[in-house]
This record gives sequence, C-alpha cells and structure tokens, in this order.
Amino acid sequence: MAARHADTLRDLLAAVDPSHDAPFLLDADGHVLLTYAGAARRSAQWAHALAAHGARPGERVAMQVAKSVEALMVYLACVRAGYVLLPMNTGYTAGEVAHLVGDAEPVVVLDDASLATIGAEADALPTELDVHPAGPDDLAAILYTSGTTGRPKGAMLSQRNLASNSATLAELWGFTTGDVLLHALPIFHTHGLFVATNCTVANGSSMVFLDRFDADEVLRALPRCSVMMGVPTFYTRLLAHPGFDAVACASVRLFVSGSAPLLASVHHEFRERTGHAILERYGMTETSMLTSNPLHGERRPGTVGPPLPGVDVRVVDEHGVEVATGEVGGVEVRGPNVFRGYWRRPELNDTEFTADGWFRTGDVGRFDAEGYLHLVGRSKDLVISGGLNVYPVEVEAVIDELPGVLESAVIGVPDPDFGEAVVAVVVAAPGAVVDPVDVRQAARRQLAPFKVPKHVHVVEALPRNAMGKVEKAALRTRFANETGETGETGETGGRR
Ligand code: AMP
Repeated sequence: MAARHADTLRDLLAAVDPSHDAPFLLDADGHVLLTYAGAARRSAQWAHALAAHGARPGERVAMQVAKSVEALMVYLACVRAGYVLLPMNTGYTAGEVAHLVGDAEPVVVLDDASLATIGAEADALPTELDVHPAGPDDLAAILYTSGTTGRPKGAMLSQRNLASNSATLAELWGFTTGDVLLHALPIFHTHGLFVATNCTVANGSSMVFLDRFDADEVLRALPRCSVMMGVPTFYTRLLAHPGFDAVACASVRLFVSGSAPLLASVHHEFRERTGHAILERYGMTETSMLTSNPLHGERRPGTVGPPLPGVDVRVVDEHGVEVATGEVGGVEVRGPNVFRGYWRRPELNDTEFTADGWFRTGDVGRFDAEGYLHLVGRSKDLVISGGLNVYPVEVEAVIDELPGVLESAVIGVPDPDFGEAVVAVVVAAPGAVVDPVDVRQAARRQLAPFKVPKHVHVVEALPRNAMGKVEKAALRTRFANETGETGETGETGGRR
C-alpha cells in the first residue's frame, strides 16, 4: 500500500477506501476505533454534511476543536472533497479566531458544539462520495502561523506541497503497512496533522490516537507501537517517568522529534536509558519538513540532519550569497514542499522569498562538513550586542552543560550601552540550586566577553507554546527592565 511521489493528497491517502478493512485508529489499549473503510464512510458523510453548510471545492472550512476522531474525519473529508481546511490552535482566543475568520472568510466554522451538531446531521448522509478530485496546485489547507511576533498569517499549502513532502518522509523513515504510530500531538499543527497522520495513511499503517500527551497513557500504549513522533517536551517527560526504560520501548523502531530543538543532553540520556537514538528533523508550517537525520546512518545530536531528497537548503550571508561550509547564515529553502505564499498578503512575497524563488525561513544555521544542518536560532532571536552577533544556542549550550542546570534560554534585551544586552534565563534541575554568579563565571571561561550574559535570571520553568517552543518574546518582555542576577523572586543569588 505504498504511496510514493503522490501529486495530490487524495492519491497519497488512497488507503482511505470503503473496501479497505485494515485498522486505522486504535486506542491506548489497542482496540480498533476506526478501520480505513470506516474512515472512508465517515469522511464521506462529513464531506456531504459540510457541503450542506455551503462548503465547495476551494472554499475554506475552519475548525477550532478539541482533538478527536471526528476532527480527523473533517480533515479527510476536506482532502477528499477539495475543501481547504483551516485548522486553528485550540489556544487561540475569541479575538484571534475572529481575526482569522475575518481574514480567511471560511464558509463553515466548526467549534466543539457545531462539530457535534453537524456530525449528528452527517449520520443520515450517504457513505459514498463521488467528486471531482482536486489538482496538485489546488489549495489543500491554510495554516496560520506567526512565529513569536506579529499577527498570524495564513500559509497557503497546495495538494502537491503536502503530498510530496509526506511521500518523501514515509519513504525516508521506512514506513510500512505494519507500522503503528503513537499519535499524541495536536492536530491543528503541521506536525500532528500532516507529518504524523499523512505518513501513517500513506502506507495504510495504523495509529494509536491519543487526545493529548499523558506520560502514563503513552507508556501503556507504547508496547503496541513501532513509531513515535513527538515534540522535545514529550521526550523529557518520558525520561522523567520512573517506568520508562528499554523494556517499555521494546516494540518501537523509531522515535522522531521536531518542532523545537532537542537538547543534545536529552538525546544522550534517552539513548542511555532506552538504546534508541532519537531522530531529529526540522521543518516549519510554511514548508513542511526540510531536513532529517537519517533512518540508517549517524543521527547527530544537536543537528537536524541533511536536506530531504528533492528539497534544496542553502545558508546565505546578509547579501544573499551562499556562505562556505561551517559558516553561519540565514537558512533558505526551495522545493515542491514550499508553500504558495501567504493568504491575501502578496506584499510578503517580496520580503519572504528571494527574487530567484527561495523562501527565507528566518532560521539561522550552518552546515557541517558532512552536510548536516545545525540551527543556531531564529534570526529575530539573534542578539546583537555592541554590534557583534551572539547566537543564543552557543551560549545556551555552555550553560546547559553546567552541573545543576536543566535548561536555559538566551535572549537580548535593550541596553543603552550595547544596543542589546545578552541575558540568560536558567532553570535548575530538580533539587539543584543554580547560582547566577557561577553561570557568568563559567560563561566567561568558555566564551568571548561579548557573549557572556550580562544578567542571569533563575526561573522555575521556561514559557513554552503548545508545540514546546520556548516563547522568547515573552521572556524579552518579562526581563526587559530587570538587571542583576536574580532568582525567581527577583532577589540576588540562586534562591528557588
Ligand atoms: P512552526 O511553523 O510552528 O512549525 O515553527 C517552525 C520553526 O520551528 C522553525 O522555523 C524552527 O525555528 C523551529 N523548529 C522546527 N523544528 C526544529 C528543530 N528540530 N530544531 C530547532 N528548531 C526547530
């Protein structure tokens, strides 16, 4: 059932077929929630129900709902009928939803209540669907993304964008029909919706479909699973669970991490505990996946691997000229996976794409001699202190190595002297005490003076969004006017 090099999602997801009785979704105990034939019937009913509410090919269907099997059926209905899905983060406020709805003008907006009512209407509708299939350049989805600042913009993703990327990943990561994927990610984001779900369906594999990540439930489900995809937080939470060991992972062939940087220390600890080297990959909403550590071959901790087959990745200086191997610069990408632009924001085509068609990711990184990409931060998180560039990751790596440090985030805050001052926000390991003075001393020993944090703040936890990304903008606001070396209470020293 291998779907390779598909041009449309309908081709890629051909396993969703009324005659295909294999299991599609399982619960944590392995009970079948839905077969592929069941998914074909239910998504057909949903396609009809949405049509009854005005949906037509090319029209937007927006959805802000809790993760559920029904929500996944809405996705499949849109794929099959050619409606453009607009999934919304469950954390969006009413004001943010209003902005998105005003911008995208969907014909249907589903919330939990209307999902239930229209779902009930769908029960009486035909389980067969006969439609004119969407073409490769038709839009399949609009995903709003803002990075950490600015109003969300809608990334327009075509059928080909999504299908080509999922086919590449399914092949690269060795998916087969027998695979069972552990799915604990949200389905409003590219990771859970497209990477995890499409890789599964592309081969008619199954997935254990969990509402959310709960370490106990994941441990219960894991013995039935062969692949797990997660954000770094999933892996740190598993490592914090006393029951998590090599035996718990005996049936798993592959752990994949992405959406935020996986600390090298977590990679090593995971390997020691389970024998598994987590495969880290890199991508973004606008482009789907871009690079991946290999399935066979060396997985380098702290790197996101070489570019995917068919995807071009280059690192350029401020003039757009490609830099030499090993040098740091802006990451630009090109390929069939790269989105078609931002919805109703044509002016951004000139700033976000180069004249020769490369998309500026906003990430900063470098290639090593073996062609593995190392990310050093987002360009907007770059700290420029006294005119010199400080890459947060380099300083964070030094701090994270210190005894008693769990993790850190390095930011720039306005400084009258230097333009920006380097500030480190540090979280101590459980039971440990971190003295900010020690952090600065250690940094001074290992880093050039301009990279040494001027201020160190010890906090209980770093603010993270739903995908596990550290919200540096929030840290910049919080620590903009705080000087000195403080603990959470603002007092001197590392008191916690
Ligand atoms: P999103 O559009 O929400 O998927 O966010 C995309 C951004 O997440 C990228 O531009 C990167 O900054 C970051 N990102 C994704 N995967 C990784 C990774 N493996 N390591 C570091 N950053 C990552």
